[in-house]
Amino acid sequence: MSYLFRELDGRRLFVVRPHWFNDQSFCEVGWHGVLTGAFPKVVTQAMVTGGADHGQKEEEFLEEAEEAEDFGRDVINQTEGVVESAEFFEEVAFNDFYFTGKIDVLHSYPDRLEVFDRKKTFLPQFGMGARRQAWAYCVMLRQQYQPTKKLFWGIMETKSSEVFEKEEFLPRHEQEMLDTCRRMQDLVLGKREPEPPAFPNKCLKCKHAAVCGKKLCD
Ligand code: SF4
Repeated sequence: MSYLFRELDGRRLFVVRPHWFNDQSFCEVGWHGVLTGAFPKVVTQAMVTGGADHGQKEEEFLEEAEEAEDFGRDVINQTEGVVESAEFFEEVAFNDFYFTGKIDVLHSYPDRLEVFDRKKTFLPQFGMGARRQAWAYCVMLRQQYQPTKKLFWGIMETKSSEVFEKEEFLPRHEQEMLDTCRRMQDLVLGKREPEPPAFPNKCLKCKHAAVCGKKLCD
């Protein structure tokens, strides 16, 4: 499990990949099982399609970024119109954690930055994982660039870019995201047991059901 920690300036930081929040929020047993190798990693068609979509956007981003000396800072500091960029890769040490991941979409307006995560579907009552993922990206962007603009987070539909939800990024969002990081770290360190979902119906459509000893229905 040493690959889940990184030594930095004499500190041992837990590596957090923001896309984990989605899986952890769906079911801790499944997230923990895959992370520790107890469950085989299952690749679904949706994951293949999603990966191809991300890959294409990343290529476009890299083409644009190649032209600039500090593309990220240029986008963040721009003062006219709106610049849309995709697949920002960042690695940021913050608090007790080392965040590493790609921001799906960043909109930079003269007065604000909007960070979006793309999802195929978003149900507000089950959307905490997606929200925490977007909140982690806000923290990464803020720590990396220290922008003076207001920071917003949102969830948008993968293909149509319809915005499901958008709000200003607030301290309570950051706190909740960090609390979840601590919970994930405790699970990895064996200080807590992973919990099955509150809704047994999740087990019916779970890709790990065939190997899971904690499933709630047959
Ligand atoms: S079968 Fe149920 S308990 Fe097991 S990993 Fe899937 S959702 Fe979680």
